[in-house]
Formats: sequence, C-alpha cells, structure tokens
Amino acid sequence: MRKLPFDKAKLEEIASKWPTPFHIYDAKAIRENAKRLNKAFAWNKGFREYFAVKAAPNPHLMKLLKDFNFGSDCSSMAELELAAKVGNTGEAIMFTSNDTPADEFRRAWELGAIINFDDTTHWEAFVDAVHPEGFDGRVFCCRYNPGPLKGGNAIIGKPEEAKYGMTRAQLFECYAKMKAAGVTRFGLHAMVASNELDPEYIIDTAKMLFDLVVAVSSELGIAFEFVNIGGGIGIPYRPDQQAMDIFKVGEGIEKAYNDTIAAAGLNPLKLFMECGRCITGPYGYLVSRVLHIKNTYRLYAGLDACMSNLMRPALYGAYHEIVVPGKEDSGETSVYDVTGSLCENNDKFAIQRMLPVLAPGDLVVICDAGAHGHAMGFQYNGKLRSAELLLESDGSVREIRRAETLDDYFATLDFSPFVD
Ligand SMILES: *Cc1c(COP(=O)(O)O)cnc(C)c1O
Repeated sequence: MRKLPFDKAKLEEIASKWPTPFHIYDAKAIRENAKRLNKAFAWNKGFREYFAVKAAPNPHLMKLLKDFNFGSDCSSMAELELAAKVGNTGEAIMFTSNDTPADEFRRAWELGAIINFDDTTHWEAFVDAVHPEGFDGRVFCCRYNPGPLKGGNAIIGKPEEAKYGMTRAQLFECYAKMKAAGVTRFGLHAMVASNELDPEYIIDTAKMLFDLVVAVSSELGIAFEFVNIGGGIGIPYRPDQQAMDIFKVGEGIEKAYNDTIAAAGLNPLKLFMECGRCITGPYGYLVSRVLHIKNTYRLYAGLDACMSNLMRPALYGAYHEIVVPGKEDSGETSVYDVTGSLCENNDKFAIQRMLPVLAPGDLVVICDAGAHGHAMGFQYNGKLRSAELLLESDGSVREIRRAETLDDYFATLDFSPFVD
C-alpha cells in the first residue's frame, strides 16, 4: 500500500477548508526529487532539466522547480507566458513546439528562448514570422525522428508513425541552412519515449544523439552546445512496477558521453532533458469523496471527482492506485468500479478494483496524479476544474489554484439577449 504524506485526520482538516475534489502536491517530495535528478547528472557541466510545463502548468510548482535551476519546456503561447511569469526567460526556455503558429515563434524569439524546430520548413516559417535582423548569439535546435533508421532496437517503438521531428537527411539539411544564414550556436533534440521505465532506453536515446552530434559536426563543420534527450521517463503507476533508477541512467549516459563526445574531442557538450511526468507525477494526489455506493450488476463507488479531474484512466485505460485513508488495514474488501459523474460510461477511475469496503463520505486518494492530471482537465458536461493545493514541508497547505466557479464557466457566453 502506498505511503501518503498525510493521514485521514490531516486530509479531513484540509477538506474542511477546500471541498473535494482537489489536487494536492507534496512540495518536500518534489524538492527531494529535483535534487536527486541534478545529482544524477552532476558529472555534466551545464546539465539542465527543462520541466515540461504541460505536465503541471502551475506557477507555484514551476517556481519551486526553478529553485533547482529547472527551466521550462514550452510548446504553446500560454506556456511561454507562464514561464516568463515565473522568471524563466532567455535560455531558461526550451520552445519545443510542433505545427507552430507564427505568433508563438515571435513570442519565443522575443523572450530569448531556445527554439527547437520540428521540421526543416519551420526554419523558413520562423524567419518569415520573425524577420530577425540577425541570429547573433541565439541558439537553435532541431528535433530528430529516427524513424526506421534506429534499427536493431525494439524498444524504440515506432517513431516512423509519430508526427514529430525530422528525418536524418532533413536534419543535415536544416543545420546547413541555418549555418548558411549565419547561425553559430546549435543544439540537437529527440523525444522518442513516453512513460518509459527501462533505463537502457533513455541511455540509448542519448547514445543515438551523441553519435549524431559527431556525424553532423564533422560533416557540416558546426559545433554543438547541447543535446536534449527529451522527456518520457516513466513512473511506477502499478504496485508491481519499479521506479527508474535515475542514477543508473546518469551513469549510463556519462559512459556513452565519454565513449563518443569526449573521444571525438567534442567536449564540452551540455545535456538537457525535458521531463514532466517523473518530476511531479508521483507527488500529486487527486482527493475525492465517495458520494454513492450503488449495487446493480456490479458494485459501483461513485466519487465527487470525474474524468475531467484526471483523464488518464478513461483516455488510456491507465492504472492509478487508490488509497482510502483510515481504511488501509481494515481487512474488509470489495471489488468496485470507481466512477465519476460524467454521462460517459468510460468515466471510471478503476474497473473491478479490490478496495477496502467503502461508504458514502469516505475520502479516497487517487495516486500519481501530479503530472498530466489536473492539466488535462476539461469542462465537458459542465464540469468545473478543481483547486490545486500545495502541501509544504512544515505541514501547512497553500492554495495554488482556486476551484473554478459557474461564473468562470459562463464567462465566454453571451447571455445578453436573454436577460432584461
Ligand atoms: C510531453 C512532452 C514532454 C514531457 O513528457 P513526460 O512524459 O511528461 O516526461 C517533454 N517534451 C515534449 C516535447 C513533450 O511533448
């Protein structure tokens, strides 16, 4: 059973102030995790994690991570503005977008961000959008999609079916164009994994990029400042899964670095990553209350949260552990479908899950909701997004996003013809 950073009494106290459902993040655990990541890559001078803003777009969480030198990985206008608001500007922003609108290229340029191109044609689109007088001092990056070229590695999955990145030939072409235009600072990026738990996979991605840096540098005579291995480090959602040993990843990449980059005399090269899930995922919880127990063809526990608070189970059939504080050791169990209130039958947090016997009013905690959780929320069926809270190391709780109200929901509608 999962160990929570709060017990039932503490949670009831919090819920008396902020009605369920809400998301709550464990600040202490996030800080320790950030420290661990930096330590695993301390061998690399200039190592930097760019937190994938889309995973948890909350300025308080972003600021907390900024204290560990984490930058922001952005891919939309709102994410760029969020980064700027917490003081992440210039090269603290990695703008890894795709299908990018012109105004976002302009804003990223204005903010001084590292701009990562998803396609060779995006270089021209960027130049057309921005009309820069020069590229002096600015660093540009290309996103590589290895496609079927990444032979002999079953775990890469099928990059050739992914919409992201450019082919190897296009990559050479894009760097050549940028060099001809006067760009002098370069980076290389790939993100080919999602929720991956095998350290070798991440190490292999780094190796692939190091080899490519050696090839492009020698063929085009350009120097690379960094390699960005993307995000995609997974977390153990299921009780039988193991967290990825980040120190093992760090050591594996260090060895690959020494064997390729250092051996080719291309030192120093900075290592960047842009993880989201493994940074905040395990340290955020969706807290909800049982509204109804219903016994028809199955036993249902209906919560006051629904898939608009956490879409992953309904969207991907994802597993999230559910803890019932105060009943962890009760010994009496039943098998439930744990549901929300949407008029959608896939609005279920768990299907046929063995849980302590539940009763209306019980608090339930849905684990691993700290990344791609609240952020994926939506308003279908008139559901309002819930509050986000931060549990500080001293036990105090801070509201870092208020719950939406009906006024928020109605704010974009025009009721003027219907009122006197
Ligand atoms: C989503 C995304 C990430 C973060 O992925 P995680 O699985 O949360 O680590 C990083 N970079 C890019 C470009 C992304 O699209």
